[in-house]
Amino acid sequence: MKQIKVKDKEFSLFIEKEEIQEAVKEVAREISEDLKDKNPLFLVVLNGAFIFAADLLRHVEVDCNVSFVKLSSYAGTQTTSIVREIIGLDEVVKGRTVVIIEDIVDTGITMDNMIRNLKHLEADDVQVATLLFKPEAFQKEFSIKYIGIEIPNDFIVGYGLDYDGYGRNHPDIYKIIE
Ligand code: 5GP
Ligand code: MG
Repeated sequence: MKQIKVKDKEFSLFIEKEEIQEAVKEVAREISEDLKDKNPLFLVVLNGAFIFAADLLRHVEVDCNVSFVKLSSYAGTQTTSIVREIIGLDEVVKGRTVVIIEDIVDTGITMDNMIRNLKHLEADDVQVATLLFKPEAFQKEFSIKYIGIEIPNDFIVGYGLDYDGYGRNHPDIYKIIE
């Protein structure tokens, strides 16, 4: 399907599932190599990262824990300090190597807050693994160790990413037609 409609907007095919899977495997390979003896804790950021995490973790070959967090939605619009609450974090983070699994890093505000929170909880090392990264939109300083695919500053859906709650189930990624 080259073009889809999600609610009131049209989207065109942007990244096909085969290319996504190649990127996912490459990230998994890097993580497996880097974190062999680190017993990492993967923190999957819901909702968007659920499909990426499910595919990624099946290729990660290290002993690890996996947990899921949801970020409160009220925060992050006004302030860039430690405002976002980590909802549902039920694992002990102190002293751990934590890898955040995120669908996309755009401005970086979400990840910046999450990294600060995890450091506040005394994680030993905090890294980010994101499927997608929009370098033109990025406003923060933190480095992103694992990036699947860099993309331009366009709105996308599919492979876990939504438009107004819809479109997450498409196996390919689509870009908005302006
Ligand atoms: P940031 O805080 O980096 O600006 O934004 C991160 C969050 O915004 C992502 O986790 C994602 O939920 C959402 N987001 C950013 N860009 C896109 C996009 O192109 N499409 C969708 N569906 N969500 C996006
Ligand atoms: Mg997200």
